[in-house]
Amino acid sequence: MTIDDVLHRLGVDPADLTSAPARHVHREAAARIGRNPCAGCGRPARATGIIDVPGYGHRRLDRCRDCFLATIDLEPSRVPGTIDGIVADLRAAAAEAAVQLTVVIDDKGGRRG
Ligand SMILES: [Zn+2]
Repeated sequence: MTIDDVLHRLGVDPADLTSAPARHVHREAAARIGRNPCAGCGRPARATGIIDVPGYGHRRLDRCRDCFLATIDLEPSRVPGTIDGIVADLRAAAAEAAVQLTVVIDDKGGRRG
């Protein structure tokens, strides 16, 4: 599934969504909850996210509970598929929290006994 499927189900034109930075800042996301309207129906948003829409770039997608539940199965996985992607997510979270991060990876993939 693609983000286009989500927007289609909600009846949302991506041009109507607010542009967003590439990464979430959790403080900003928390501030949007309950304050911004759902992109699908206009009720207060209970979930917010940043989506990358081909041709439009990064956009904010705020959804109420019902619209979120109606579309969550259509969203592409946000879990990084590579070690580099996982480490990049960890580094971004550490930078946002202003903490130092040390990542140790067992690249041999073996089990320790
Ligand atoms: Zn809604």
